[in-house]
Amino acid sequence: MQFPMLSFSASRLLFLVATALWVSILPNIVSVKRFIDSPSAGDGVQAFAFVLGGWLAVVLATFTLLSLLGFFFWGRSVKLLCAIALIASAILGYFSFFLGTQFDKTMFANIVQTHTSEATELISVRLIAWVVVVGVLPALFLWRVPLVERARWFRHTMNHAAVWLALLLVTLAALFSQYSRYASAARNRDITFHTMAPTNFIAAAVSHYYALREQSIVRDLRGIDAQQKYKLPKPRLVVFVVGETARAQNFGLNGYARDNTPRMREEGVLYFRDTESCGTATAISLPCMFSGLNREDFSISKARAVETLVDVVLHANVRMIWLDNDGGCKGVCDRADVKNYNRTFDPRWCSEEGECYDEVMLEGLKAKIEESKQDTLLVLHVKGSHGPAYYKRYPPKFEKFTPTCKTNDLSACDRQHVVNAYDNTILYTDHVLGEVVTLLKGLSDQFATAMLYASDHGESLGENGLYLHGLPYAVAPLEQKRVPMLAWISPQFAQMERWDPQCLAAQTKKQRSHDNIYSTVLGLMEIDTKEYSKTLDIFEDCDTQPDPATTSPKR
Ligand SMILES: [Zn+2]
Repeated sequence: MQFPMLSFSASRLLFLVATALWVSILPNIVSVKRFIDSPSAGDGVQAFAFVLGGWLAVVLATFTLLSLLGFFFWGRSVKLLCAIALIASAILGYFSFFLGTQFDKTMFANIVQTHTSEATELISVRLIAWVVVVGVLPALFLWRVPLVERARWFRHTMNHAAVWLALLLVTLAALFSQYSRYASAARNRDITFHTMAPTNFIAAAVSHYYALREQSIVRDLRGIDAQQKYKLPKPRLVVFVVGETARAQNFGLNGYARDNTPRMREEGVLYFRDTESCGTATAISLPCMFSGLNREDFSISKARAVETLVDVVLHANVRMIWLDNDGGCKGVCDRADVKNYNRTFDPRWCSEEGECYDEVMLEGLKAKIEESKQDTLLVLHVKGSHGPAYYKRYPPKFEKFTPTCKTNDLSACDRQHVVNAYDNTILYTDHVLGEVVTLLKGLSDQFATAMLYASDHGESLGENGLYLHGLPYAVAPLEQKRVPMLAWISPQFAQMERWDPQCLAAQTKKQRSHDNIYSTVLGLMEIDTKEYSKTLDIFEDCDTQPDPATTSPKR
């Protein structure tokens, strides 16, 4: 079949812009629809601006991808690039639209492992018709438009850069003008990058490749010299509660106007009132706390290359249990005895969707600990104050501060109602910590017990229009970086370690950060290794007397 050449012509830049625009409409109909359907969209003009900003983001992503790939398609071959992009996007868009497929690294792995026979089963008349109309016909149309490049190379590059920059600025302005709405929509997964063809597919391929590479990384050994300096007359039981999204500013013990930490106050815990987190998101702070790297030196890749605090503790032959109600340990607990409570269906603590209150982890815990009378480090990774659905984090009887925001869409709520719900999450975390202390007291005949708690990062609750967390550290507000940290040391533990209560209390006045956690946990377990840093161990200053080892020989 011969198609006539069209009478008008277009420049290379126009080819790419036209392709990006087309791809951002029909092949991305699901991406756009998700913006329209999101409860965060609002009404009227606001909803229009929300959808327009979202659509611009799709155009920007597509145009950026085409511009980068354009380096490999000079001259007339740019038409080939446009044709591939149009047809590939049509195929991806089909699966997202008709089958609800989201292209992420798991889906990519799935595709790579699919047999030809399985793949052919997916082909249908509807698929072919869709791809012809949405991908092939526009590609043929572009193919017949003569490519005429009047601008010289340099001029063309400048024009291209100017168009990209203008698009970037307009999109950023649109997104930032309604930052909190987009943040809520993204957090609630109303909108997702995984439907955004064809950038989703390229990103999925790249992250699949990195995931494969990561799986093949064998961590360098850490702390193989680790051993306990001495044993206490009773085995140690130290619980480290890794908090989630609790910020110091709204923590009763930190001087907050609301008393939402009554149990920790009654227990007379050591509260470290000046504590800074390592990152502003779990994905940074959690690996950082367990990495032994300081915040300044920390990077995800460095941390992934070496064993973690969990491994060092295991090298010292200490029992290590990790219970998780917060979506996993980000690779830091691979060798521990791990139990994940995500998608547990215990009706006492969990919703029908399998989301559980943090107390679910205490169910049967006493018996589990008692299974083995040896030194034990227990990590409880709580869901704490994870947003934006703060109201889902605590049982109804902890709804003390009212009225509360009862939707995922924070922008739809009065700011004070958001704060009320958030303060209730802290009240519940206080209760969970109180229950841990009660449990430890109940085990005091058998174990010398202590508990350490630190939140992973803070949270913005509407200050300067910001919500949630995860801003780059350098620009993140203090609300996202100041975290509560506290310790409960049983009188028996302190006595056996010969720690003076006044000395312990004095340690709370110093500036602390996540940098302190690694060596403090090693110190609490009395694990000796070259990985341990005396200066970072919060309680080291109270170790003024000779080690009890001189009086109680090593077992
Ligand atoms: Zn977190």
